[in-house]
Amino acid sequence: MDAETRPSGPPSLRELPSVDQVLKTASAALALERHGRAPLTQAVRAALDEARAGVQAGRVLALPSADHVALAAGEALERTARSSLRPVFNLTGTVLHTNLGRALLAQEAIAAATAAMASAVALEFDLATGQRGERDDHVRELLVELTGAEDATVVNNNAAAVLIVLNTLGLGREAVVSRGELIEIGGAFRMPDIMARAGVKLVEVGTTNRTHPKDYAGALGEATGLVLKVHTSNYRIEGFTREVPARELAGIAHARGVPLVNDLGSGTLFDLTRLGLAHEPTVREAVAEGADIVTFSGDKLLGGPQTGFIVGRAELIAKINKNPMKRALRVDKIRLAALEATLRLYRDPERLKARLPTLRLLARTRAELAARAEALAAPVGARLGSGFTVEAADCASQIGSGALPLETLPSAALAIRPAGGSGGTLNALQAALRDLPVPVIGRIAEGALILDLRCLEDEAGFLADLDHLKVAP
Ligand SMILES: *Cc1c(COP(=O)(O)O)cnc(C)c1O
Repeated sequence: MDAETRPSGPPSLRELPSVDQVLKTASAALALERHGRAPLTQAVRAALDEARAGVQAGRVLALPSADHVALAAGEALERTARSSLRPVFNLTGTVLHTNLGRALLAQEAIAAATAAMASAVALEFDLATGQRGERDDHVRELLVELTGAEDATVVNNNAAAVLIVLNTLGLGREAVVSRGELIEIGGAFRMPDIMARAGVKLVEVGTTNRTHPKDYAGALGEATGLVLKVHTSNYRIEGFTREVPARELAGIAHARGVPLVNDLGSGTLFDLTRLGLAHEPTVREAVAEGADIVTFSGDKLLGGPQTGFIVGRAELIAKINKNPMKRALRVDKIRLAALEATLRLYRDPERLKARLPTLRLLARTRAELAARAEALAAPVGARLGSGFTVEAADCASQIGSGALPLETLPSAALAIRPAGGSGGTLNALQAALRDLPVPVIGRIAEGALILDLRCLEDEAGFLADLDHLKVAP
């Protein structure tokens, strides 16, 4: 911003415009309309302070006009008005990216959540009888129908589900787990720590790579509260391994009158082999294999809002619902509305792939994405300028959130390279892309910035966003 030029000599601070003078300018009127009087006054004071400090330090040789101060204050307010939780283009190639908010909701779920936000709802109110109802009732029947379990309950997320299950079935008692399943999910969710906080004593059996039926049988005793099986969702132990299948483990636990809990993690209600992917255990299978309780996430493969599901034997679900922790871990009406709408989509498996964004994105083929990459390379190249080359390239996406960690999905990307070949400019480009109105998040691999197109559906919005790109040539 250029300031008014003055004929000669250092500027006199007494001629700096007053707050009132600044607030009376046309630029201030616009900012006032957008941001309100108090924030604008504060921003004007800050801009005046900065000008004053600049003059005193000899950095500013000419006083800014009232209009300049108003513009500077308005720009500062614009910057702080941008939400830090704003939408981004996820071009990382990870469909369920935990740091980018995991599953996108279906239109039906968004509509249901929006309606619940704006209105009173029959959350814990039975409309048939006029009596008090249960908030879980909105999804209980759907969950029972979709999983084959006797009963179901819902909490804040799957970490909460595991916590309350352990605490309900194992407080002051022992939980028997294979050493090969004592996982860390990330974000400080470590099975041994959760157990300690749940008041459960961990009894590890077997070794990292091999656990046998006799290891479990030998550990079960008077003090056992539960046997826990954890789906090792984010890694695989390969080679000389042995794990006890859930069905066999259920037999061992039941022979001693102990419940089996199976933490599936992602857990899906949809058979992924129908998308040509490897098999990820479905919740229905885990229930049928004899687990007394199965826990899984709402915002991983299921494609709904963040929630944790607990399904299984009615008598155990009743105990879990009576645990005072349930109140602290419960789900609000907005998510419950989105969840109910999401689960309803599963009743119509044929149209599920089109309606549920997670499955829709996972189902996109390389051929389809390669055609998109070919079409986008030129318009994106034009927006990046002569400093970069943009080419369509094959790449591999992943599901994310610990589902099928070794499985990749053939995909296509825009591969961007600096025309001159210096690595520094790729970092600058990445930063410039993050600074766009809708930040674009990709990944750098082998000297190129890879923008995986699997999760890009709004191409027109993407190109319009790139029109704002400011990157040094
Ligand atoms: C992801 C995961 C969790 C935690 O689920 P959140 O929904 O993220 O709380 C727990 N257990 C397993 C096996 C998981 O994969």
